[in-house]
Amino acid sequence: MSSVPTCPACESAAHDFFTEHEGMTLYRCRDCATIYLHPMPDEAALAALYTDAYDGALSGYFSKVEKKLRRSRARMKRLARRVQGGRFLDVGCNGGFMVEAAREHGFDAHGIELDPVSVRYAREHYPANSYFEGRIEDYAPDAPFDLIYSSEVIEHVPEVAGFVAAIARLLKPGGHLYVTTPDISHWRRPRRLTDWDGFCPPSHCVYFTPSSLRALLARHGLETVHTGFAWKPGIKILSQKAG
Ligand SMILES: [Zn+2]
Repeated sequence: MSSVPTCPACESAAHDFFTEHEGMTLYRCRDCATIYLHPMPDEAALAALYTDAYDGALSGYFSKVEKKLRRSRARMKRLARRVQGGRFLDVGCNGGFMVEAAREHGFDAHGIELDPVSVRYAREHYPANSYFEGRIEDYAPDAPFDLIYSSEVIEHVPEVAGFVAAIARLLKPGGHLYVTTPDISHWRRPRRLTDWDGFCPPSHCVYFTPSSLRALLARHGLETVHTGFAWKPGIKILSQKAG
């Protein structure tokens, strides 16, 4: 592991100190303004974080299923106005709610997820779709996708450039990526970082601004075609791979 803070989005080593929190240090990239943890959590720390997620799933994560499905259906309805049918992939699909909503809109729907409890839930409850348990880097589908969706996932990923590169590889030429993540630069973000539910290192290890996320996507051939308006401190971007 490098001891020099290096931006996970653009690989620049030019940085300023941003903040310190519970023994962890965050830096801001001078080149792209992405804020990141350094050092990043290692494999053992990540495994511990996913063990927590596992316990959370057992103790009631899926108790709000109806609400999650309703929200997924509403979001899918809006997305389906821009992308009609084809192959859909949810990267970090949790219990399969968005995958199911995509199937209902006529997509051939797929999901990938690290958490085994979530994958089991998705397979049991929404069995018409396909699921893969594991990392996107290890995922080898039969064909590329028309629409890839990843909501509140990218902020958890230490190797964020590799993650976006893997997504770009899985898209058809002309295919779309819809991504959401917290917005650390948002006008309604609480002034004190610790008052903001989006600030939770080491689980959230990369913090984007809309422009730093658009720049990362563009470096991997994904041009932003729409930036959604967000009342809450979040970023919603629809991008497209060159056709
Ligand atoms: Zn950067």
